[in-house]
Amino acid sequence: MSSKRDFYEILGVDKNASADEIKRAYKKLAIKYHPDKNPGDKEAENKFKEAAAAYDVLSDANKKAQYDRYGHDAPGLNGGGGFSGGGFSFEDIFAHFGDIFSDGGGFSGGFGGRSRGGQRGPAPGEDLQISVSLTLKEISEGTVKKVRIKRFKVCSDCNGKGGTGTKNCATCAGKGQVRRRVSSIFGEMVNVTTCPDCGGSGEIISNKCRTCAGQKRVRAEDTIEVKIPAGVSGGNYLKLRGEGNASSQGGQAGYLIVHIEEKNDDFFVRDGQNLFCKVAVPIYKLALGGEQRVPTLYGEVKLKISAGLQPGTQLRVRGQGLPGYNSDYKGDIFVEVQAYIPENLSSREKELFVELSELGAGRDESREKGLFDKIKEFFS
Ligand SMILES: [Zn+2]
Ligand SMILES: [Zn+2]
Repeated sequence: MSSKRDFYEILGVDKNASADEIKRAYKKLAIKYHPDKNPGDKEAENKFKEAAAAYDVLSDANKKAQYDRYGHDAPGLNGGGGFSGGGFSFEDIFAHFGDIFSDGGGFSGGFGGRSRGGQRGPAPGEDLQISVSLTLKEISEGTVKKVRIKRFKVCSDCNGKGGTGTKNCATCAGKGQVRRRVSSIFGEMVNVTTCPDCGGSGEIISNKCRTCAGQKRVRAEDTIEVKIPAGVSGGNYLKLRGEGNASSQGGQAGYLIVHIEEKNDDFFVRDGQNLFCKVAVPIYKLALGGEQRVPTLYGEVKLKISAGLQPGTQLRVRGQGLPGYNSDYKGDIFVEVQAYIPENLSSREKELFVELSELGAGRDESREKGLFDKIKEFFS
């Protein structure tokens, strides 16, 4: 672990760099070393992953504070983000860094094989976006969601060809590209772009398909199954290749981007992989000790209550929280013990409570005395 490179060094920022500077530095590296730009380049791939791991920590105030204090050996740096194992895919990185890849800062359309920089060929279909809302139970095990989407599909009547027969495109005279003169502050320039009428092929269809009017695609409504891995969080997203709109120009279909949302849970509050809850334990059990059943996402556990346990105590149930992204290691449940006071006492119960209260009176007085003595000391 300690042989790892310094995270600040990896991103090339100063220890006092602002969150914005860290984000900018990461973006720059992510673009430079992105696998789409460096196909087959192992070193670039490692640099890309390294930058992602550094950003994972330095972009999170808690993890950053831990790292600043303890370095790579900081507890909780690994396992949380799932970036320690090395077994994650690039799609995972995008899912994890949803905030970065959704803010439009030069990334839109530039990733996941969609880069048009210098590449010729038909334009892909548009990306589509949906969101799915998950319960903690679904997040704990992963799930398959059926979703209905409206999208363009390849026209089956013409097999996505748009019709039969072709002729030269008049707009570009069969060249596939059009030149346009533009005036700018640098003088007049010639701008060469893909022909909008034939999409760069140089040809147009002579007998257009009637079903799709030569558009090569038709509107459709489908139900598809989206497989969601365990351990995701609200704000993550998944990119499904080929599940977006079919292309109107014979290119690949776009992505379906699935945004993850988290449903509120009645019992648990989530913090990363840990879950917090409150359980009211009858006062007899707190006084005498015993066992208390506590529901978990995986069944139930029996919590040991020691005699004299005070309300407000937090008990930890290890390994019953949520799994990490790409890791089976589970977080913990933290149970805040509350006292349940019996209501609507029967006359017999009332008698016993009165007896108890008389028995305990001496004890209570000495406790109170101790309390008042402390306050007196404080004022003297
Ligand atoms: Zn058609
Ligand atoms: Zn053309």
